Amino acid sequence: MTETFPAEAPASQDLFDRALAVVPGGVNSPVRAFRAVGGTPRFMVRGEGAYLFDADGRRYLDLICSWGPLVLGHAHPAVIEAVTRAAAKGTSFGAPTPGEVELAEEIVSRTPVDQVRLVNSGTEATMSAIRLARGFTDRPKIIKFAGCYHGHSDGLLAAAGSGVATLAAARTEADLAGLPDSPGVTRSAAAETIVLPYNDLAAVEAVFAVEGDQIAAIITEAAAGNMGVVPPAPGFNAGLADLAHRHGALLILDEVMTGFRVARGGWAELSASRGEPIAADLITFGKVMGGGLPAAAFGGRHEVMGHLAPAGPVYQAGTLSGNPLASAAGLATLRECTSGTYATLDRTAAQLSGLASKALDAVGVAHRLQHAGNMFSIFFTSGEVTNYDQARAQHVAAFTAFFQAMLAHGVYLPPSAFEAWFVSTAIDDDAVEVFARALPAAAEAAAAA
Ligand code: PMP
Repeated sequence: MTETFPAEAPASQDLFDRALAVVPGGVNSPVRAFRAVGGTPRFMVRGEGAYLFDADGRRYLDLICSWGPLVLGHAHPAVIEAVTRAAAKGTSFGAPTPGEVELAEEIVSRTPVDQVRLVNSGTEATMSAIRLARGFTDRPKIIKFAGCYHGHSDGLLAAAGSGVATLAAARTEADLAGLPDSPGVTRSAAAETIVLPYNDLAAVEAVFAVEGDQIAAIITEAAAGNMGVVPPAPGFNAGLADLAHRHGALLILDEVMTGFRVARGGWAELSASRGEPIAADLITFGKVMGGGLPAAAFGGRHEVMGHLAPAGPVYQAGTLSGNPLASAAGLATLRECTSGTYATLDRTAAQLSGLASKALDAVGVAHRLQHAGNMFSIFFTSGEVTNYDQARAQHVAAFTAFFQAMLAHGVYLPPSAFEAWFVSTAIDDDAVEVFARALPAAAEAAAAA
């Protein structure tokens, strides 16, 4: 028997009550609120290596890693040193700095893009990439896939994954088709977004056949991680590039989650190494490249990026873009991420996911473990999961029971069945042991749900 935390978390609850008074829903990003799983969201006060420490003084093995950025774990010495050194010189200059050039060079050297523009969030990266694609092609429409999340800009909040999926689990596919996910997003904004089932090339081909000359771009997650983890079927991403190009449209590969996490050069590198190069026109980045500070980017070949202001007419800007602290954190993180780092992350992901799957098998819980590189998640279902419809067919109550038991045993999983689990290089044998010890009770809880 291991010690378990009580369900009540008084210090977190106090903070949550105060937050509820001054912040809508008590959180600054919806999934943090534990709406889907119930209970008190844990207010974190410190991170160290593989662990987070909450306001009640409890330690959790962290398998969220700030929703992806922290591949090296919390407070990695190289990152903290770089940020501290940068902060001592001033926090923002509103003028170009050497650090952002170095970060851009690092990204360009690792990925297929020739140029990047630095921004502050993944939302900005995808929103700006779409504007650029529309400006470049002089066409209005975009194609996205149900269950893929690309941030919260208007045109992309149609059948979106992540928090939208978590809060909308009760909506039907018919509800979702072509309609905005959120009040405040106009029908006309959503009407220029064509939503299709993930992994369905025939559906994309059919749309291009009818309105191919209206479509500026297809945007897709390089590997879907916002409906739980659903990897692209072999040939899907390359097929998208091919279809887009046959019709004069662009392919935007969203690597905000996968970039610099699944391989040195992101999913583009991993896919090419498996014999499937993806001829993306624009790629978006975020999360890991900011090392836990707000930084993101979008990039592509010279011909397309040259349309961006001030080089070209498509406007895009940012007061804090290329911020020196964020650039320093990102650069320090990327420089630590060698090929050995990815071997470690892959090994740890295989180990943890294997243990979880074995524990569920031991008590007969139907589940499906899915990987995209070292990102993984478990769907509580026996059927295959290749798209959003199938992801939504999972037994969400089993996940909830599993999540709560893991939390009570000191393991912090994403508080939603529609999210990827993230590992860091800070997960050592002791941390694996923490995870392994939590599993039997969590598997029992899932079995009883
Ligand atoms: N694209 C993808 C694939 C993402 O996973 C996310 C965030 N989870 C975003 C875009 C939006 O990034 P941000 O939350 O930094 O705006």
